[in-house]
Amino acid sequence: MIDRLCIIGTGLIGGSLARALRAAGYCREIVGSGRSAQHLQQALQLGVIDRYDTDPAQAVAGADMVLVAVPLGAMEPVFAAIRGHLGTDTVLTDAGSAKASVVAAARTAFGEVPKWFVPGHPIAGTEQSGVGASFADLYRGRCVILTPLPGTDPQASARVRAMWEAAGAQVVEMGVAHHDEVLAATSHLPHILAFTLVESLARLQDKQEIFDYAAGGFRDFTRIASSDPVMWRDICLANADAVQDMIERFVGDLLALDHAVAARDGERLLDIFSRAKAARDAFGDGLQAGESDE
Ligand code: NAP
Repeated sequence: MIDRLCIIGTGLIGGSLARALRAAGYCREIVGSGRSAQHLQQALQLGVIDRYDTDPAQAVAGADMVLVAVPLGAMEPVFAAIRGHLGTDTVLTDAGSAKASVVAAARTAFGEVPKWFVPGHPIAGTEQSGVGASFADLYRGRCVILTPLPGTDPQASARVRAMWEAAGAQVVEMGVAHHDEVLAATSHLPHILAFTLVESLARLQDKQEIFDYAAGGFRDFTRIASSDPVMWRDICLANADAVQDMIERFVGDLLALDHAVAARDGERLLDIFSRAKAARDAFGDGLQAGESDE
């Protein structure tokens, strides 16, 4: 049980956790924080939080658990704002989609990475943003990755794990760098491809016709291009090295496909598509549907 949970960034991710924990009866009180009083008022009216404070330092007062679920570029200023305002027993965690940058932000803001800070990342989401899009079942049956450091207090990790499990998630742990490499491949590259495809087509002269006649495949493939641009700018900047590696690798494979088309090499095309189909069919059942980030 959590007595007082403070969620800084009461949007899709923070709001959904609040709803899930409320439904599970896991928190006595949930305090929201963020930039806009209007959005926090909405969270209050929706019953997602019990009260709010736009000043993060005030919002964390007396909290035994603090979740920071703001865009990656806002992590460091938020950590700096709450520095010195957390209780001795308070556990701090985050929901950022890349982990090395958040650990670096914590190191800069606190002087060292606090032992009661547990970096985390729910592998769940949608292409929608804001508390209005949040829902209690977002994490049910989904995976949450924690990336504790060697100095992280095991009790702090256990409390964060228990919180996500109460929200219905399955929790796994992995190293920070490994997390960022895996997510660059499975989430960041696909989002970049979707954004780039839609942007590229939208610049064509007869774009209206293209979008008018878009079939299911186009809609499936590009749904995630409706995701929040600020969040995805921040993810690309925060995980730039791993993202660049994946883009370079993909561009090489795309060029190979281009050469096969240019050479009218049907055998080569069949080979590439068959191997892709076999891999997708083999792993498809294990894929978690309906998520945006991740
Ligand atoms: P969101 O719905 O847009 O919510 C972001 C929240 O952060 C809003 O409450 C916003 O408050 C607040 N915020 C933004 N800038 C802030 C700042 N400078 N200071 C304080 N609060 C600020 O975004 P989200 O989808 O929940 O994503 C939140 C985090 O979760 C991100 O780090 C993202 O990488 C990660 N994540 C996202 C997904 C996904 O699929 N969406 C999945 C896993 C992890 P205002 O409305 O008042 O500006």
